[in-house]
Amino acid sequence: MLRRTKIVATLGPASSSPAVLESMIAAGVDVVRMNFSHGAPEEHRARAELVRSIARARGTTVGVLVDLQGPKIRIGRFQNGKIALKSGDKFILDARCKQGNQERVGLDYKNLPQDVSPGTTLLLDDGRIVLGVTEVKGAKIHCVVEQGGELSDNKGINRKGGGLSAPALTGKDIEDIKTAALLRADYLAVSFPRSAADMRWARDLMGQAGGKSFLMAKIERAEAIPALEEILEASDAIMVARGDLAVEVGDAAVPALQKRMIALARSHNKLVVTATQMMESMTASPVPTRAEVSDVANAVLDGTDAVMLSAETAVGDYPVETVTAMARVCLEAEKEQEFSREAHRNPQPVTGVEEAIARAAVFTAHNLGVKAIAALTQSGMTALLMSRMTASVPIYALSPVVETRRRVTLFRGVYPIRFAVTTRDSEQTLHLAENELLKRGAVQHGDLIALTIGEPFGEAGGTNTLKVVRVGEHRKA
Ligand code: PGA
Ligand code: MN
Repeated sequence: MLRRTKIVATLGPASSSPAVLESMIAAGVDVVRMNFSHGAPEEHRARAELVRSIARARGTTVGVLVDLQGPKIRIGRFQNGKIALKSGDKFILDARCKQGNQERVGLDYKNLPQDVSPGTTLLLDDGRIVLGVTEVKGAKIHCVVEQGGELSDNKGINRKGGGLSAPALTGKDIEDIKTAALLRADYLAVSFPRSAADMRWARDLMGQAGGKSFLMAKIERAEAIPALEEILEASDAIMVARGDLAVEVGDAAVPALQKRMIALARSHNKLVVTATQMMESMTASPVPTRAEVSDVANAVLDGTDAVMLSAETAVGDYPVETVTAMARVCLEAEKEQEFSREAHRNPQPVTGVEEAIARAAVFTAHNLGVKAIAALTQSGMTALLMSRMTASVPIYALSPVVETRRRVTLFRGVYPIRFAVTTRDSEQTLHLAENELLKRGAVQHGDLIALTIGEPFGEAGGTNTLKVVRVGEHRKA
């Protein structure tokens, strides 16, 4: 059985060597995430090339996701690297402070004092430390420690309830978009977008840089929740970025939001990745906890396209074991998923001919016992539309376009196949497609397959044709 849910693995020191990368890809990584909060542009470019060359040598395809740092607000550094704060202590966040101590620490976002007022709650280090603002004087934010703990250099700051004014793209992000375009990233993740306008801004910059990456909005600010539909419209994908989101909206609100976001993304024909702490304990343990297994399985049952690993594969002790465990849990959860013959019944109206054909293909597959769907596609759009339904059969995206094959690595239930177009005759082409599936062992003689294609073949235009054939009896079907 093929795993339908895709695995995104963040690269870092634990996953830099070719040997580890190769083992991770063999264990099931579909997309690598390059976290642009760390590392230089040349390193990222070299890493993307390494991943692609390993994939090529293995005869597989791996997508590349560039994740921009965004306006993550951080404290500065301490004289001794860290301090310990106790509940009730007074503490000052001081935009002018150069080196922190027990009384105060600096800020990398100099406007933070304008964004807070007495009564604001600030959460540091993913909410491990809670500060209540008592007074703002110039560049100084006076706080009282509501929940203490150890605080070390450069930890992140979130404001409870959201409302920080930092723009979604920093100067560094604007430069990094050029790097993403140069390394031909398949996906570009924008951190902390508040609105559709933030996503359009990133798209404009990507276009100016000559890149064609799909844009992914990381939903991790409180303001992004009411703006979800407009953000989806302006994006190709979203990430349920549970790390920062939990800090802004409260951890208990996140599971229900995850379900809503996944359903909404799918019904808008967009992609969705579920991220953060999915197998967190595996950074230091070769086996996941029961709760982590349930979390991954539940995201699969919610219908996510992909589940993501962060620290587990970037800095963990068991990067390969984590991917193996995640793949195993996804496969098992997928067995439990219910397929009805009605799964084509998306409540949304179809957007056009291509979507009607895509849904018809899935409907047909479910009702006729078709073994595989083959979408002959330039852009991958037909495969995307098919995968927005709960398809019980594999969807093969046959494309001559390498960018398309890389992009579909994130689509749930879709598998890329390189398919060179050698004739303008569509009948002949469908026959070649059938042979390609046969050669790969995806289907056998006598199996039914559903093929989609745009006719007249070889001319511009979307998918408009669905054909069902029995393998080996192509011309008689
Ligand atoms: P990050 O984003 O890992 O870049 O912070 C994901 C999240 O916040 O969950
Ligand atoms: Mn985040």
